[in-house]
Amino acid sequence: MAARILDGTAASAAIRAELKPRVDLLRSRFGRTPGLGIVLAGNDPASEIYVRNKLKTAGEAGIRAELIRVAAEAPVDDVLAAVASLNARDDVDGVLVQSPLPAAMGDDAETRVIDAIDPAKDVDGFTPANVGLLVQNRPCLAACTPSGVIELLDREGIRISGARAVVIGRSDIVGKPMALLLLHRHATVTICHSRTLDLPAVARSADILVAAIGRPAFVTQEFVSPGAVVIDVGINPVSDETKVRGWFPPDSPRLAAFAKHGSITVGDVHPGVAEVAGAITPVPGGVGPLTIAMLLSNTVRAAEARLKG
Ligand code: NDP
Repeated sequence: MAARILDGTAASAAIRAELKPRVDLLRSRFGRTPGLGIVLAGNDPASEIYVRNKLKTAGEAGIRAELIRVAAEAPVDDVLAAVASLNARDDVDGVLVQSPLPAAMGDDAETRVIDAIDPAKDVDGFTPANVGLLVQNRPCLAACTPSGVIELLDREGIRISGARAVVIGRSDIVGKPMALLLLHRHATVTICHSRTLDLPAVARSADILVAAIGRPAFVTQEFVSPGAVVIDVGINPVSDETKVRGWFPPDSPRLAAFAKHGSITVGDVHPGVAEVAGAITPVPGGVGPLTIAMLLSNTVRAAEARLKG
C-alpha cells in the first residue's frame, strides 16, 4: 500500500498563520513588528532563491525583513561588520547569514561568522550558545530544519516517545540537532554517517527514519521497515536524465517537470520507498517549506523574548 504523504506545505502554512496573532500582539503592545536581518555574501544562484523566499515569506507573516549584501570578493570582515551592525540594532530581533559563504573568505569564515551572531538573535540556532542549550534540553533557538521535522511529526499525530529513530547524517545544521530533538522527545536514537557499517540494516530498525545525507535517491526500499515513517530532508538538484528516468515511473509528473526544466529537485529517498513506508515526506513539499516556517517562528520567539524581557 502506498505511504501516507506528510504534507509539509500545509503544515508550513498552518505554522505561519499561527504566527500572525503573535506578530499583531507585539505590534499593538510594543509599537513594532519583529525584525529579521539577512546577510548575503556573493551571488550563489541557490542562495539568491533561498534569500528571496525568506524575505517574501517573512513579509507575508508581518515580519520586517531586510537584506544586507556583501560582495563576493569582499573579506570576511565585511560580513562580520554586517553582523555586528545587526546585533547592535534594537529593531532587529533575528540575524542570519546565508550559507555558503564565498570560498575566498577562507575555511574558517562560516565558524567566525556564526560565532559573531548574538545568541539572542540567532534564529538559525547555529551559535555554540544555542547548541549547548539544546544539548542540555533548555529553552533555546533550535535549528530550523530539525525543528520543522518535529512540528510535522506532532501535527501528523506521529508518536515520537518510545519510537526507534534513525537519523542518517551528522551535520551541525541537520543531523545532530535532529537527533537531539528526537532524544529530548524520548525516542531511542541512532545516528548514522558515512562510516556506519551495514547502513541498510541499521536503518531498517527505525520506526522513524530521517535521511539528511545530500545524495539523491540514496535511501532505497532495503533501508526501510514496512510501515516506518520516512522523513526526507534532502534537496538535491539533478540534471542527469538517465538517473531521473531510473528513479521515477514513466507516468510520473516528475518526468514531465524534468522535460520542461532540464533538472528537478530530488530528495535523499528513492521514490520506490513510498511503496514500503507507512508515511513519507515528499520532495518538494515536505521538509523544505517547514524550514522557512520555523525560521519565522524563531524570529517571533526572539522578538517576544527581547521585547517582553
Ligand atoms: P552535509 O553534507 O553537511 O552532511 C551530510 C551527512 O550525510 C554527513 O554526516 C555524512 O557523513 C552523511 N553521508 C554522506 N554520504 C553518506 C553515505 N554514503 N552513507 C551514510 N551517510 C552519508 O549535509 P547537510 O546535513 O547540510 O544536508 C543534508 C541534505 O539536506 C542535503 O541534501 C541538503 O541540501 C538538505 N537540506 C535540506 C534542508 C531543508 O530545508 N529541507 C535544510 C538543510 C539541508 P559524514 O559525516 O561521515 O561525512
